[in-house]
Amino acid sequence: MSSGQCLLVECTMHDVLASDNSRPLSWQSQLSDLVTDPVELCRLLALDPDDLDIAAAALKAFPLRVTRPFLARMEKGNPRDPLLLQVLPSAAELLAIPGYSEDPLAENSSRPAAGILHKYAGRLLLMPTSSCAVHCRYCFRRHFPYADHIPGKAAWADSLEYLRQTPSLCEVILSGGDPLTLSDRHLQWLLGELEAIPHLRRLRIHTRVPVMLPDRVTPALSETLDKSHLETVLVLHSNHARELDGEVAAAMKRLHATGTTLLNQSVLLRGINDDVATLARLSEALHAMHVLPYYLHLPDKTAGTAHFDVSEKEALALHAALQAILPGYLVPRLAREEPGHPGKTLLGHG
Ligand SMILES: *Cc1c(COP(=O)(O)O)cnc(C)c1O
Ligand code: SF4
Repeated sequence: MSSGQCLLVECTMHDVLASDNSRPLSWQSQLSDLVTDPVELCRLLALDPDDLDIAAAALKAFPLRVTRPFLARMEKGNPRDPLLLQVLPSAAELLAIPGYSEDPLAENSSRPAAGILHKYAGRLLLMPTSSCAVHCRYCFRRHFPYADHIPGKAAWADSLEYLRQTPSLCEVILSGGDPLTLSDRHLQWLLGELEAIPHLRRLRIHTRVPVMLPDRVTPALSETLDKSHLETVLVLHSNHARELDGEVAAAMKRLHATGTTLLNQSVLLRGINDDVATLARLSEALHAMHVLPYYLHLPDKTAGTAHFDVSEKEALALHAALQAILPGYLVPRLAREEPGHPGKTLLGHG
């Protein structure tokens, strides 16, 4: 994953303007002030590095990267904290396990133009940035050659032209990287371009940023979504109710006010959310902030992530147990991606 150079330039400029200590830090400043050093991580969480299974080689392969608001929700002194385990570079990542590969979904073969991943009927996935506010250890794109696929200005023209020439496409999905690490100005430009394409009806944004950096949900972002004639959908990525504090709730409330459909996608992760009570609490916490659970994903067979894996049998049992205690609208669809399939494969009932 690349380090998002262009973003850092914007941050630096912003820091100069916002150096007044009495004001809260802008989201750009927060995004340039991530925790990337395991020693600092341990200090902030009152943990002894010996309690954690940190591996230098795992850190080098996919660096530690976490926002301070997310870190603040972790329980101090708990080496098994479910939020911490999602970002901790652990020695378990270094094991080579048969059946786990660097490109488990064979995504590298489905790109009509740089920055585009065209996999789904009627929907087009655009990847406008390689940058994320966090590095999730389970990420299926952790080995992805992002830097090769992030369009410059010329490639944007190609992607937009492809969209214009493909009337069967009615929805654009912004994924990444995390599209909400882009500036409001950049998003407004992109939205303007998309709105000028007559056959497009929906814009969908997949993002973990409202969880990682709730201040990113600025009035300008809300206004952009509110004013768009496209139907806007935001799919949050949250895996645990403890990720969702009052700040996140306030951000989701701002997004709700724009009329955007709010959904959530989770990954089922061993040792993090693989029990019924935790999943039920997540669904209820999401609904309390106007978000409906959409997908519960089995992890992909990505090299370095086998220790998070939950078997299909266990996942089906958890899903059935969840259905038994929650109203149907709070039960996410259990799904997995399979290479070569044009969409997700649903498992279980409903
Ligand atoms: C599954 C998925 C999609 C598209 O699939 P839908 O069934 O249309 O939701 C797009 N982006 C991401 C990141 C996904 O996981
Ligand atoms: S935010 Fe999404 S794309 Fe970025 S590291 Fe996490 S799972 Fe991967």
